[in-house]
Amino acid sequence: MARRFASVSIDLDSLWCYHEIHGLEPCESEKEDIIHQFAMPRIFDFFSSLDIPLTLFVIGKDVRRHRRFLLEASRLGYELANHTFSHTYGLRDLSKQDIREDIKRGHEAIGELSSTAPVGFRTPGYNISTTIMSILAELGYAYDSSVFPCPPYYMAKGAVMGWRKLSGGKSRSSMALPQTLIAPTAPYVASPRAFWKRSAEATKTPVEIPICTLPGLRFPIIGTSLHLLNAPTFKVLYPTLKLAHPDLINLEFHAIDFVDAQDLDHPRLVEHQPDLAISWEKKKERYSEILRVIGKDYNYLTLKDANLALDLRHDFLQ
Ligand SMILES: [Zn+2]
Repeated sequence: MARRFASVSIDLDSLWCYHEIHGLEPCESEKEDIIHQFAMPRIFDFFSSLDIPLTLFVIGKDVRRHRRFLLEASRLGYELANHTFSHTYGLRDLSKQDIREDIKRGHEAIGELSSTAPVGFRTPGYNISTTIMSILAELGYAYDSSVFPCPPYYMAKGAVMGWRKLSGGKSRSSMALPQTLIAPTAPYVASPRAFWKRSAEATKTPVEIPICTLPGLRFPIIGTSLHLLNAPTFKVLYPTLKLAHPDLINLEFHAIDFVDAQDLDHPRLVEHQPDLAISWEKKKERYSEILRVIGKDYNYLTLKDANLALDLRHDFLQ
């Protein structure tokens, strides 16, 4: 098997997460299931038809509500990874004890769904810190996948947050540390003193598997931007992507990428998430073309298995 891997991960953020980001009123409990109800069956069908194994980043406090879907995911052999218990965007600003408690609660809630405990972590809003990494090391996590070295994303996010603040609105979103932008774009064993640097020594700090970006401007190659690319445009960009990510392409989606405006019937959310205006049928067509192109050169593995196959700690054991 060629040593080129691709991983598809999906953050299972519920509707209430988007209400928090966009400063909308808290959503009613009966509406909270909407994303999962539409997205999960599509995710199962779509990725089974392409024979792609998935890594699902699960929010601990949603486990009880979405138990049926999550047990089905576990039965299909998908990796269930930890996306914290509370999905607090400013996790890194909490005390070390509170961060540890939140990650541990997520770990326990998610671990109860399958026979194996989670070994992978992604922090909400790509907001990672060296403290969070040290806690993951203490808890025995093999990898983290939170670094998103993508200046255009942070410029857009900073502009939206600044505008919302000026206009008196509320958002629970929080900016990632600027060091994220100088982190490597390929997987690396993170330094115990600086999460954005490669470790020069043997360490228990997890391997960091950054989310995929294109070189140059570091255009994000994640679900929300993937459905803006039609097949011919993607084919033009693909050689550059391949050159920049020779070992692993780490593709990130969110559950909301598998629904559209018709499913949600929520005009205020569509205003804030214009990608919802693209129909699921159209998105499906674009995702499948892109995933098939990548699948010709890369073997799809879960992040856990890709991390094992890459074996980045090997060099320290010589
Ligand atoms: Zn999330």
